[in-house]
Parts: sequence; C-alpha cells; structure tokens
Amino acid sequence: MGGSNQSEQFPEVIMPACEMMKILKGQKALVTGANSGIGRAVAIALGQAGADVLVNYFAGDEQAQEVVTEIKKYGSNADCFKADVSKEHDILAMYDYMKKKFGTIDILVSNAGIQRDAPLEEMTLDQWNQVLATNLTGQFLCAREAVKEFKQRGVKKEISCAAGKIICMSSVHQMIPWAGHVNYAASKGGIHLMMMSIAQEVAAHRIRVNSIAPGAIKTHINTDAWNSPDAYQSLMKLIPYKRIGEPEDIGKCAAWLASDHADYITGATIYVDGGMTLFPGFEAGG
Ligand code: NAD
Repeated sequence: MGGSNQSEQFPEVIMPACEMMKILKGQKALVTGANSGIGRAVAIALGQAGADVLVNYFAGDEQAQEVVTEIKKYGSNADCFKADVSKEHDILAMYDYMKKKFGTIDILVSNAGIQRDAPLEEMTLDQWNQVLATNLTGQFLCAREAVKEFKQRGVKKEISCAAGKIICMSSVHQMIPWAGHVNYAASKGGIHLMMMSIAQEVAAHRIRVNSIAPGAIKTHINTDAWNSPDAYQSLMKLIPYKRIGEPEDIGKCAAWLASDHADYITGATIYVDGGMTLFPGFEAGG
C-alpha cells in the first residue's frame, strides 16, 4: 500500500472486454461501409478482439485511414479498400486484394447501406434501384465471394471451429413496416430471407450466417431522429429501454457473434434495439 498511487493500482486504460479476451485472434475480417457509423465501430471492435481487418469504404479516404490507424493501436493489422458494394467488378477486386493482403477471409460483416426516402408515389425507380443495389445486391455479392473462399479453405481448427462467418447488417425494418421507406424496408426484408437461405445452404460446410438487426443507433443515416430534444423525446416513445443505441453496441455484438463463443448460432437474427421490436405501443397495456 505504502507509496503506491492510484495510477499504479489501476491500469490507465480500461480495456474493452473483447480486447482482453482476444476472441478473434488470428482471424481475417472484411467489413463493408466501415469508414463511418456502425461499420466503423464493428471494424474497431473486431480489431480490438484480435482480428486483422480490411476496412471497405465508398467515399471518404481520410475517415477510412483513421479507422485503420485506430485498429492498429490494438495490435491488429488493418488496411482499407475503396469499392462500391453494388458493383460486381469492385467486389471481385476487393476479394483479390483481401487474399493478397491477408491470405484469406474468416469473417465478413456486410454492413454498407443507404436510405433514399420518399413517399411511394414520389419514389423514383432510381431511388428504388440504388437502395436495393447497395443494401441487398451488395450483400449477395459479398456473401457469394466469401463462401467460395470459406469452402475452398475449410476449417482451420487453430483459428476457429467454423470455416467462416457471415454477419448481415439488417434492421428492425426487416420486420417493422416503414411508410415512406418502402425501398429500405424491402431491402432489409430481403436480407432476412437471403441470410436464412444462405445459412441453410452452407451450414453443412461449417459456415455460419447470421444477421444483426439494429434499432435506432446514433449515426449519420438517421441524424434527424436524434439531433434535437424534440426528435429525441419522440424517438424514446419507440424504445422501451429509453436510450438511443451507440455504434459500439453493435460492434460488441458483432465481435461476439463472429467468435467461437457463438459457434452453435446460424440462421439467426439478433435484434440490438433496446426493445423497439417489443411493440412499445402496448407498454401501458395497449
Ligand atoms: P452510415 O451512413 O454512417 O454508414 C453507411 C456506410 O455505408 C458508410 O460507410 C457508407 O460510405 C457506406 N456505403 C454506402 N454506399 C456504399 C456502397 N455502394 N459501397 C460501399 N459502401 C457504401 O450509416 P449507419 O447507420 O452506420 O448504417 C450502417 C448499416 O446499419 C446500414 O446497412 C444501415 O441500414 C444499418 N442500420 C442502421 C441503423 C441506425 O439506426 N443507424 C438502424 C438499422 C440498420
């Protein structure tokens, strides 16, 4: 006791739980749309948990580089790759780069997504196509290339008990209809059955495929929903747990779901939504 001060007794930095456990040590991960919001937090959480990470992005070189620098602070390797997930050519080039840089892929987190909102009668075909191409076709293309590599390589027991893991970033709007956002809700509903069908198709190869369905998470995609006191209060009516989600809530879930701690989970959706899908309108008995 004598002479010891507080900084000797306690570590200066409290390590995130997944870093202490390094539950993804030796694994190679690709996260799409990883230079902002949820994708950024997922990429960093996987890096903290010991995975080397390829940070995919579409625009914003500096932000992508910043995520790479952050991941490297935790002792994991990282790099970034610019690619439009809706373009097959870009995806093939990205997987080539992944193979050259990291040798293989163990974890895909398909996170890139956009909204192009409009009432149905005003929604243009372009708005519809852009959202479906990025949110759904992008996930199909990334999953297809990941599965090819997982099957070709198989299980490496010293790395993971699974041959590969895919996490699809869905949304509570895979089940909650969303007026004024029919393109977005259709894309997330599509992800739901795409994820389950791929999971069924590849399970025998020891490939796990799951979704995370975030509720309201504080990012650029939904600034209008939380950036004024009125908007925040109104949002809380939809969230029984009475707080907005933080990107790190999703990052921690993704690191665990990608790890062998979740080895018996496939074809599942984990709702990370503070209870948004619990029909909050019935909180007081309906
Ligand atoms: P965000 O706008 O911060 O991030 C979206 C990311 O996708 C960005 O990095 C963007 O550059 C990237 N992207 C967009 N188009 C791309 C393309 N064609 N190719 C590659 N990358 C592209 O928003 P976010 O909230 O972090 O959203 C991430 C994911 O989470 C999305 O799939 C979104 O639908 C989902 N989600 C978000 C919320 C929320 O409340 N924030 C809720 C449910 C689901």
